[in-house]
Amino acid sequence: MRDTTRHQGKRRLLAKTVEEKGITDERVLDAIKKIPRHLFMDSSFEDHAYQDKAFPIAADQTISQPYTVAFQTELLEIKKGDLILEIGTGSGYQTAVLCEMGAKVYSIERQHELFKLTRKFLTKLGYRPKRLTFGDGYKGMPDYAPFDGIIVTAGAPFIPKPLLAQLKVGGKLVIPVGKQHQVMTRIVRTAPTKFEKMEYGEFRFVPLLEDKN
Ligand code: SAH
Repeated sequence: MRDTTRHQGKRRLLAKTVEEKGITDERVLDAIKKIPRHLFMDSSFEDHAYQDKAFPIAADQTISQPYTVAFQTELLEIKKGDLILEIGTGSGYQTAVLCEMGAKVYSIERQHELFKLTRKFLTKLGYRPKRLTFGDGYKGMPDYAPFDGIIVTAGAPFIPKPLLAQLKVGGKLVIPVGKQHQVMTRIVRTAPTKFEKMEYGEFRFVPLLEDKN
């Protein structure tokens, strides 16, 4: 668990790359500068950690590309203290970004191995999400709803209804929708029964898997 000035220098460059690709939210860029991404992957892959690329992690999953993490986070327009639900904890990198921005984070992961590893790892790094659970993201977390924002970090074949129901009025769902490739979609609940949808271009994610139990 080493973090050196060399790593910090690489992170500043990564944040600059992400900024040059169009991210303007300073708090997102600050989080990228601060979070030791190399510790979220196996130490033998350290050289890949500060490239703006997705990378394989345990259980056949991936740590999302930093630009994609930043893009989705920016769309959430987080304010300090917001309740944010993340679907797909994975490596915990996105979770850490949300924590750095002062959000109260709830996150769901369906792979037990990853859930256990990441829970331990985030604690070790000093991150304190409100709740990490092992379960099916399609269902959301009704016990802790409504949320100011919900972020889905895997490709969803359709928009799960329970997630819409768990948004506050004014809350936002940021979700990549599609099978082979995904269209980044943001849905804002503008009134109890009114939802406004905007699309933000194509991305590629691992699939949001339906319940295996
Ligand atoms: N946010 C992660 C991205 C991980 S990739 C990061 O920053 O590293 C997407 C994650 O979604 C994987 O860990 C995968 O296991 C998880 N996932 C897939 N289907 C899911 C579901 N139905 N519910 C919860 N998590 C799911």
